[in-house]
Amino acid sequence: MSLDLSSINIDFKNRRVLVTGAGKGIGRDTAVMLARYQAKVVAVSRTEADLINLQDEIDCETIIADLGDAAAAKRAAEQAGDIDLLVNNAATAILQPFLKTTPEAWDATMAVNLRAIVIVSQVIAARMIRRGVAGSIVNVSSMAAFQALRDHAAYCASKAGLDQLTKVMAVELGEYGIRVNSVNPTVVMTEMGKRAWSDPAKGGPMLQRIPLNRFAECSDIASVICFLLSDAAGMLNALNLQIDGGFHAT
Ligand code: NDP
Repeated sequence: MSLDLSSINIDFKNRRVLVTGAGKGIGRDTAVMLARYQAKVVAVSRTEADLINLQDEIDCETIIADLGDAAAAKRAAEQAGDIDLLVNNAATAILQPFLKTTPEAWDATMAVNLRAIVIVSQVIAARMIRRGVAGSIVNVSSMAAFQALRDHAAYCASKAGLDQLTKVMAVELGEYGIRVNSVNPTVVMTEMGKRAWSDPAKGGPMLQRIPLNRFAECSDIASVICFLLSDAAGMLNALNLQIDGGFHAT
């Protein structure tokens, strides 16, 4: 068998990619990187100003939706139309000690971090199957799926659930040629990351355990997401891929 080097180029020409939470942070950088690889990006987020700002940088379609609302999540996915690749990135982190975790915070976390991913993926994957598209889905999970983090009871539970949801989706959608993987980043100093880790008393010990001695940048995560979406990752399925500079080995 001859080795065709063109098959490992990342090129999303003529592919429509839906990115949730594309207004800020990791989702925004992912949308920009996808556009650089020639994808047609459909950006979903909650704050209109962020989406307008994204459109100043890349040519993309935008959908404003609060994905924590089940009906709105379904509408957004339907409005996106034919999608070849999906990045479920939007999430919320409400920090509360376990003894003070409220039912409201728990439900709000699960609504965005898990339920919305089920709803959006059901709509998008059913449409991929109808069109015979061998798509790829990346769920943005977290090292919090493996690591018990103080004040993150709802968040950790949601991300651990997401990893197992990823595997079930991979098992059930694999027969249609649709691959499903998660990425599990370490700390990234986005708005969400700063809220949890900018205090040196919290961030310092975390940083010390990362052999590369730095937290991740949004682009470190975006590039792995692009790889997993691409045909170059054609045999990768049901992974929970840690992007943590080696933290997991310490
Ligand atoms: P940010 O808070 O910086 O950005 C999140 C984006 O998602 C925002 O555009 C936000 O819009 C949008 N979003 C949040 N909730 C909703 C909602 N209900 N409906 C629609 N859009 C929504 O987060 P990050 O970029 O840091 O996080 C991105 C992903 O990476 C998340 O899944 C997170 O769990 C994961 N992650 C982050 C890490 C970190 O240290 N930052 C580490 C590991 C994983 P708006 O601002 O308008 O609400």
